[in-house]
Amino acid sequence: MRTPVPDYLQEVLGGCTADGGAVADDVPELAAADPDRLAVALTTLDGVTYSAGDDDVLFTVQSISKPFAYALALQDRGLAAVLEVVGTEPSGDAFNEISLEPGTGRPRNPMINIGAITTHSLVGEPGLAGAARSERLRRGLSAFAGRELVVDEAVLESEMGTAHRNLALAHMVRSRGTVTEDPTVLVREYTRQCALLVDVRDLAVMAATLAHHGVNPVTGERVVGARVARQVLSVMATCGMYDAAGDWLSVVGIPAKSGVAGGILGALPGEVGIGTFSPRLDRFGNSTRGVRVCERLSEDMGLHLMGMAPAGLAVVREVGLVHDDGGGTAWRAVLQGPVTFSGGERVLRELARIGADGVDVVLDLTRVSQVDDVGRRMLLEGVRRLGLDGHAVSVVDPELMLVVEDVGTPGPAR
Ligand code: GLN
Repeated sequence: MRTPVPDYLQEVLGGCTADGGAVADDVPELAAADPDRLAVALTTLDGVTYSAGDDDVLFTVQSISKPFAYALALQDRGLAAVLEVVGTEPSGDAFNEISLEPGTGRPRNPMINIGAITTHSLVGEPGLAGAARSERLRRGLSAFAGRELVVDEAVLESEMGTAHRNLALAHMVRSRGTVTEDPTVLVREYTRQCALLVDVRDLAVMAATLAHHGVNPVTGERVVGARVARQVLSVMATCGMYDAAGDWLSVVGIPAKSGVAGGILGALPGEVGIGTFSPRLDRFGNSTRGVRVCERLSEDMGLHLMGMAPAGLAVVREVGLVHDDGGGTAWRAVLQGPVTFSGGERVLRELARIGADGVDVVLDLTRVSQVDDVGRRMLLEGVRRLGLDGHAVSVVDPELMLVVEDVGTPGPAR
């Protein structure tokens, strides 16, 4: 058979005929885009990408670069240093609003332009600037996409011709000392970041890398630490869709980011990465049909952050006394699936039922797919306590789920 997933994506596109709004017209090169293009892609966390529609059309990433620049800044400078300069509160304002947080004077978040221009300056080692920093960004976004991305020089030049508002924003943060470099150079390099070319398949892989705790599921490369990916997804959830962010989170429920060229990127943690493309924008600056496609995917496929399936209830597959051929008896628990806090608690409750009669205990992890740090600590503590109670415990763990592997340390914010 052929998997029905591509057919389904095709059908979703077919159902999203009603378009509205207009192609962004403040940048001449963007205004020239074909408004009827429509595409969707979806990447699984084991690295398979499905797509439909105009999936090979390249467009500039624009504001969808912001969460990735934020990720690289967090990776390169650490969470505390970045938070000192850029906040995490939704602004409720338009993407290019001239606003700073009262009191702290920080840009409110890294998803609006004033925060993104500031975040751009935080990528790389302190002191890295200009072309070298832009190259760090290009390479970083390429690692998220799993292929070499290039800049659309025509869009860059075109946008620089009308970048008055972004220049005003950069001068504002410069005047407060939040950034110390030449605002004109900073805006040019930020605009270069926005002018990287992607297609919907790239967006889906980039999203899947965030959803997969920072590891690109196609290349296997760890691009940023899990804590960084979590921070980025959190800010996308609350600030990614600008002044439509509240509606978006309740209706679609997928952390997302839109771009003025018509792209939307959605990343559902632990589940899937999504990219859509359609150039006409609604009044919030989000792609009209892209929003509709995401609404349908969320609705049809149950892809909502607040509606995720319970993780721990099925973790104990079998439990009870077993007898071996030699007449021996052991108390055996067979576990399955992922073990996180709720699953770990379920297992510990079973282990707590074992009597104080010194019976041997077997904990079988053969069918366990994944154990997070908390699940691992909980299981090991159960084993330790059984040992203290005088039980001989054997753990069947062929995939070494309870062994902490050293995965290396990519940066300060892991
Ligand atoms: N390059 C655009 C800008 O800075 C990005 C805005 C967007 O995509 N919403 O204005």
